Amino acid sequence: MPRSVVWFKRDLRVADHAPLVEAAGRGPVVGLYVHEPEVLASPEWSPGHLAFIEDCLGELRRRLASLGSVLLVRHGAMPETLDRLHDQWRFEEIWSHEETGLAITYARDRRVAAWCRRRDVLWNQRPQHGVIRPLASRDGWAGRWRRRMSPPPLPVPKSIEGPTTDAIDLLAADDARSIEIRDAGSNPMVEAQRGGEHRATGVLESFLHDRGEDYQRAMSTPVEGWTACSRLSPHLAYGSLSIRTVHHATRHRIDSLREDPAAGRWRRSLASYEKRLRWHCHFMQKLEDEPEIEFRNFNRAFDDLREEDRSRWSDEERGRFDAWVGGRTGYPLVDACMRCLDRTGWINFRMRAMLVSFAAYHLWLHWKPVAEHLATRFLDFEAGIHYSQCQMQSGVTGINTVRIYSPIKQAIDQDPEGRFIRRWVPELADVPDEHIARPEGMPPLTQHMSGCVIGDTYPAPVVDHETAYRTAKERIFDARGTSLAKREASRVYRKHGSRSRRTERR
Ligand SMILES: Cc1cc2nc3c(=O)[nH]c(=O)nc-3n(C[C@H](O)[C@H](O)[C@H](O)COP(=O)(O)OP(=O)(O)OC[C@H]3O[C@@H](n4cnc5c(N)ncnc54)[C@H](O)[C@@H]3O)c2cc1C
Repeated sequence: MPRSVVWFKRDLRVADHAPLVEAAGRGPVVGLYVHEPEVLASPEWSPGHLAFIEDCLGELRRRLASLGSVLLVRHGAMPETLDRLHDQWRFEEIWSHEETGLAITYARDRRVAAWCRRRDVLWNQRPQHGVIRPLASRDGWAGRWRRRMSPPPLPVPKSIEGPTTDAIDLLAADDARSIEIRDAGSNPMVEAQRGGEHRATGVLESFLHDRGEDYQRAMSTPVEGWTACSRLSPHLAYGSLSIRTVHHATRHRIDSLREDPAAGRWRRSLASYEKRLRWHCHFMQKLEDEPEIEFRNFNRAFDDLREEDRSRWSDEERGRFDAWVGGRTGYPLVDACMRCLDRTGWINFRMRAMLVSFAAYHLWLHWKPVAEHLATRFLDFEAGIHYSQCQMQSGVTGINTVRIYSPIKQAIDQDPEGRFIRRWVPELADVPDEHIARPEGMPPLTQHMSGCVIGDTYPAPVVDHETAYRTAKERIFDARGTSLAKREASRVYRKHGSRSRRTERR
């Protein structure tokens, strides 16, 4: 009867948790979550993430206790944390899910593997998504994903043997440290979603039965996307719900609608939704297969296109970046999205794509600092999706359609009455509808009457749209036209390209 530690990372749940089920079937188990200083200090981290994690841990702690075990929450580097735990409660096995994360978590996993070898502890890892490790070729990937998703989600173990009461008292003595961490930074995401398995199930149910009917039509607008999108991304990122559970629940709901002649919209929406669950793993697979994309362009031909090193930026470049970060670009939809992110940690796909496109093309900024900033603002930060998407929307993969979003057209199309803009940019509250996408076009009298004076109460556009758009287009197409870029594009496609072209264009 080996003693096991189930190491929770981005899988903060008890349902459909293979490592927990397997460990519980073998002997006594303690659950462990570690706040690692290196992760807390990474440029992608934010206190908003921590608040969500704390919610998840609170519920996980209660659920493990009700099953008979315990969750230990510790603060420290992994090998030292394991050393101490091993001294307190001698265990023979560690169980966890595979993680496709940042370079720092990969390096930490290697240190954990070395620790296990030194201490003669067996580390068992199980896949948690449709990400295949190792993957020799992308051919046939979608079929492998379906096979991964097809078994039903694992039930919660009926009971788990935990440590003895005396051991629990000893182990619990180290536990208060997570509280120090929670207070370590003020959290600007005051309107963010809350974490936990129970809430995640509620969000899934409400999407599949109440909110999702208009998903396909409404997902691109920031106004309706707020409720029409599933809003499951932070739960998938921290694993308070497994993607297989979502996949099965969605399939089940689609099957139940099959015979209903009035459910056409529901069926179309859920079919589009189902595809996106596969995209989740498709994008994570890219980071799994080429971890360097956290730091380097997919397509090396674009290496000198934009300046990555902020210390080499001119004052003007710094000014453009700061205006974008602060939601003060003079482009209302961009500013509204950035300010909304600060407080809520979420925005829909189209607006994310527009934000990166605007930074990369209009402001000609390198994707790396842009991606790092957005990572701190996305509650659902998932490295594999995030870095792939940020590179894609900046035009540096060479295999995707170049999309330079016009923030003016997006405002007209997606928020014609300025409902979203007015909520997040109160300076524009009384600007007439016809000027809301481009307030600098207001005659001076209208500016004064609406209380929005350009250059005074609201900034003038940080760059001229037409000029910036034209210049960026020329630069990116020139770069794509070189023979190196084309050679690189073939390599990138062979390694990462979706064999369904429609996925790749997203
Ligand atoms: C620049 C940029 C950065 C992004 N960074 C992240 C990130 O860090 N974490 C993250 O989860 N998503 C990211 N996305 C993808 C997408 O915008 C979010 O998954 C989605 O908006 C989350 O809201 P939702 O759960 O309501 O999505 P829904 O539309 O309801 O989709 C359901 C799920 O499908 C997956 N999904 C949907 N669209 C995509 C997509 N285009 N690519 C990959 N998976 C997708 C997600 O897991 C999502 O939770 C990014 C997109 C862009 C353009």
